[in-house]
Amino acid sequence: MGTILKSHGAFSVLGLPVNVMGNYSAWLLERLQQRSGAHVVTLNAEMTMQAQRNQSLAEIIRNAELIIPDGAGIVLYLRLMLCQTVQRIPGIELAEDLLRTLGTQYTDKKVFFYGGAVGVAGKAAELWQQEGPGLNIVGTCSGYHSPGEAEELRHKLKQLQPDVIFVGLGVPRQELWISQNRDLCPQAIWIGVGGSFDIWCGRKTRAPRWLANNNLEWLYRLYQEPWRWKRMLALPEFVLKAFVSGVWEKLNIPQSVL
Ligand code: UDP
Repeated sequence: MGTILKSHGAFSVLGLPVNVMGNYSAWLLERLQQRSGAHVVTLNAEMTMQAQRNQSLAEIIRNAELIIPDGAGIVLYLRLMLCQTVQRIPGIELAEDLLRTLGTQYTDKKVFFYGGAVGVAGKAAELWQQEGPGLNIVGTCSGYHSPGEAEELRHKLKQLQPDVIFVGLGVPRQELWISQNRDLCPQAIWIGVGGSFDIWCGRKTRAPRWLANNNLEWLYRLYQEPWRWKRMLALPEFVLKAFVSGVWEKLNIPQSVL
């Protein structure tokens, strides 16, 4: 069995917690109603390997209230360790589910989009607003700006007090930014969504379903963005490290030996 770390069925993957639960959307909606705030991290192999080298990132992930198994590598590892079905939850799909629910059942809740090139979050918001006219998007902001504009954004968030804040700055920038700024809106749900705004506004596309179903979404990203090849070396590195540590744990050999 993987190590149980905290409530909501959290298991350890290379020292990082991952929450394994049946219904992540229900958890988010409960949290939203309670106004108790949360930082949601969508964990994949690449982020896990970054956290091995970046202790601040690792600490932020450990302190997040919800860490979802976003990557195929994470899910395969958990399946192996727990000997049970663990569903992969792509962060973008969880975010989309939440936006649809907010647009139909929680129209009083305020939503903010932050990140992406100039105009991207605005366009994504416009398209979401068309799909769900009830959706209450109170503001958007691009992810490229001067320090002065960054201060303006913080001021705006403090004034607006959005209930859900989607942050698409890429990893680890978005996680660091959320952890530094979540005190501005302590009751909000903050979700790092990577390049989701690019997809929502139509600048990029997601991998075809057959590739995603075969755990090959990363291959499509490599085809779409070949410059990512260096970052993607984290994937074989993750497989090697996680599975060696998994076998060690299964054999009950202390991790410190590794
Ligand atoms: N981005 C941004 N500000 C920055 C750097 C990046 O808003 O200073 C945006 C970028 O435009 C893109 C997203 O962050 O929309 C990163 O997307 P990516 O798919 O690379 O995210 P990751 O794979 O790291 O989750």
